Amino acid sequence: MKELDVVVIGAGIHGAGVAQAAAAAGYGVLILEKNEIAAGTSSKSSKLIHGGLRYLESYQFSLVRKSLKERAILCRLAPGLVKLQPFYIPIYKTTTRRPWQIRVGLSLYAFLGGLHKDNLFKRVKHKGIKNIDKLEQTNLQKVYQYHDGQTHDVNLTKAVMFSAKELGVELKYPASVVSIVKNEKGFKITYKEDNKEKSIQAKVIVNATGPWANELHELISPKVNSLDIDLVQGSHIIIDTPAPSGIYYLEAEDKRAVFVMPYEFKGEIKTMVGTTEKLFTGKADDVKATEEEVEYLLNVYKSYFPEQKNINVVHQFAGLRVLPKDDGSMFSRPRDTILHWAMPGLLTLYGGKLTAYRSTSELVIKKIKPLLGKKQRIACTDQLYLLAD
Ligand SMILES: Cc1cc2nc3c(=O)[nH]c(=O)nc-3n(C[C@H](O)[C@H](O)[C@H](O)COP(=O)(O)OP(=O)(O)OC[C@H]3O[C@@H](n4cnc5c(N)ncnc54)[C@H](O)[C@@H]3O)c2cc1C
Repeated sequence: MKELDVVVIGAGIHGAGVAQAAAAAGYGVLILEKNEIAAGTSSKSSKLIHGGLRYLESYQFSLVRKSLKERAILCRLAPGLVKLQPFYIPIYKTTTRRPWQIRVGLSLYAFLGGLHKDNLFKRVKHKGIKNIDKLEQTNLQKVYQYHDGQTHDVNLTKAVMFSAKELGVELKYPASVVSIVKNEKGFKITYKEDNKEKSIQAKVIVNATGPWANELHELISPKVNSLDIDLVQGSHIIIDTPAPSGIYYLEAEDKRAVFVMPYEFKGEIKTMVGTTEKLFTGKADDVKATEEEVEYLLNVYKSYFPEQKNINVVHQFAGLRVLPKDDGSMFSRPRDTILHWAMPGLLTLYGGKLTAYRSTSELVIKKIKPLLGKKQRIACTDQLYLLAD
């Protein structure tokens, strides 16, 4: 039976990132994916590479600082995949977050981003905005503009995976893990590929199955420790109205933030609107956008862009956020990744952000290194360019 240092399960952005970082640190890595690259949450995100302005409201300052740093690294390593875009925040008489609060938030955001010119904000004239994007003008008081990053999540994940493979990582897909048994040398992992069961031996396993993390734990013997989590569904719609000139950061009636952004879909630039936040209690494989969510997102769009008529939803999709279980609001729960030893040698990633995948992956390597011993490093992930397809 083949023996490896690390087997990573799941080829979303975290699986790809961990495989890349582990191979860069000199380890032998295999990655198993039951579907295809970025088939899970990593194709269902809002496609933003951002610090997360709204996380300032829940005081997640270190997450914002780290994410802004990672944004700058990704803009350097992947200029063809991560682009800074203008973001607009319109404030109406009825908007809960007042202009002074937005100014404080944007100042703090710029400060956490090291006051780099890419992080500065300004007020823009709303007449200009109306001419470009037909934004509702009634009761509009102010519009602020700042910058954040936009990507294509699937292409970014594929680019990280390509880099991992260049460093020697072996990827198998579709290859679904069916059982994991702890033994004296580490773990025996059995997976199904081409309708056949195959086994390999690994010293360390990284469980990067996102919303399937606890479902994977069910396949392990002996029984492991799972964290209590909630899966929170977030849906997006793509509509066929003329795409806005930048990304609009809007307040919905229930006070949640909703983004309206230009997005390339099947070779054409359309408008994407998202996202919702809805507790999900089914099997992760079964997530899909509901009629109620589509209606909610359309209503937010129509209330800000009432001049746009004949709107057709051309696509809709839903993904699952993994959040620590809590009675409090979903919005205020920590969005940072939690790294959890489900058993010695088996590290599970819960939650996290597309934006911070590289720093999360480096943290994973720090955690597993003592179990594997030091190897000759062959590359550094903050120096590896990521190429668009
Ligand atoms: C609605 C929404 C919007 C978001 N927007 C943003 C954003 O704009 N910016 C940002 O930074 N972050 C965003 N996030 C967060 C980000 O998308 C996720 O943190 C990230 O994509 C999670 O990646 P992952 O690799 O952990 O999981 P996933 O991408 O879900 O990958 C897990 C993989 O494991 C595979 N798998 C499962 N079980 C098995 C098995 N038994 N055997 C083999 N393979 C298996 C699955 O097929 C899947 O491919 C958003 C999240 C959501 C839900």
